[in-house]
Amino acid sequence: MQQKRIAIFGSTGSIGKQTLEVIAAHPELFVAEILTAHSNESLLIEQALQFVPNIVVIGEIGKYAIVKKALEGKPIKVFAGEEALEQVAAMDCYDFMMAGIVGFAGLTPTLTAVENGKAVGLANKETLVVAGDIVMRIAKEKGAAIIPVDSEHSAIFQCLVGENNNPIEKIILTASGGPFLGKKSNFLANVKRDHALQHPNWAMGAKISIDSSTLMNKGLEMIEAKWLFNLEPHQIKVVVHAQSIIHSMVQFEDGSIKAQMGLPDMKLPIQYAMAFPQRLKNEFPRYHFDKPNTLTFDEPDIKTFRNLHLATEALHKGGNAPCVLNAANEIAVYAFLKNRIGFLDMTDLIERTLERIEFISNPTLNDYFETDGEARSYAASLIQL
Ligand code: NAD
Ligand code: MG
Repeated sequence: MQQKRIAIFGSTGSIGKQTLEVIAAHPELFVAEILTAHSNESLLIEQALQFVPNIVVIGEIGKYAIVKKALEGKPIKVFAGEEALEQVAAMDCYDFMMAGIVGFAGLTPTLTAVENGKAVGLANKETLVVAGDIVMRIAKEKGAAIIPVDSEHSAIFQCLVGENNNPIEKIILTASGGPFLGKKSNFLANVKRDHALQHPNWAMGAKISIDSSTLMNKGLEMIEAKWLFNLEPHQIKVVVHAQSIIHSMVQFEDGSIKAQMGLPDMKLPIQYAMAFPQRLKNEFPRYHFDKPNTLTFDEPDIKTFRNLHLATEALHKGGNAPCVLNAANEIAVYAFLKNRIGFLDMTDLIERTLERIEFISNPTLNDYFETDGEARSYAASLIQL
């Protein structure tokens, strides 16, 4: 395999750091070409000194001088600001983008990569939640491969290898249930951020950890799956599987179900997306069958975890509804992380925003940007100062 030049958008995040670990473990296969970070300049500098990429981008313009000075004398170009992210995503100097930015902010750079026919390892699920129709259409037109990194979607992607055009009857997305599995609303009403951030099976960034605790993450993943695998909403089922060993399943038209299994470790789907179609040998811990293990499967409690219900409704409704859901959710999650609103208030905020923002059945890209802006302002206005 020829050495792949990797652009990591969001290199200082959980996905970004693990992508660098994979690069470090396989220097003959991968080289870090572009690293971007929003505000953590010290980690970006540390990563740049270790991996010596061609380009680094720091999102916060005010931090440009610090990064530039720290990398003086190195063969590394330094850029800053949101526009630089888009410009760098359009460059020829890389082969594969790891889309590891969190939230709506990942949409523009990811779409730019796709427009330029690049292969994309997609961790940033919000890109497809917001504008999945447009992103997938352009990817097809430009021949850009979108390889899922989200563990569930990577599992489905792996189950589909070798199936050529065999139709999918349905997919079964597994959900760990998060830290509050089995809890009811009277408990959730008093939950605090530090507790919600403690995921039982995965160590992840703050936003996705909160999304996992509310089950919004699974709702976003249903919408992500719809676009990635060209499914109708009724073909997507969520099952709670608390052990996170089966990462998801595909049921074919003959009733056969294929599952992809392994210990929960994001480096595996990250590495799989980067090396696809090859599998790379590694020393990650293995799942063993030599002690008693129980794998369980349950229905999600959507009466208690209403975010999953709201996301399912947005999935069925389509148009700009998932974009509204995503924007309101981002505002809600960051307000909860700042202890401005309670755990259950997040759902109310999202529900009220969905009711308020005008429905557009066939949005343009511009409509998605406007919807995002309006939904954010409205959701923010609901939070009392
Ligand atoms: P994180 O918060 O740890 O990292 C986010 C990265 O994005 C950082 O490098 C940060 O600098 C950058 N960033 C944040 N805001 C930005 C902005 N406005 N502009 C430019 N860059 C910005 O997040 P994470 O957990 O690594 O998640 C990244 C994405 O991957 C999310 O969409 C998440 O849903 C998805 N994902 C993550 C995991 C996981 O295990 N962490 C698993 C599946 C999917
Ligand atoms: Mg996932």
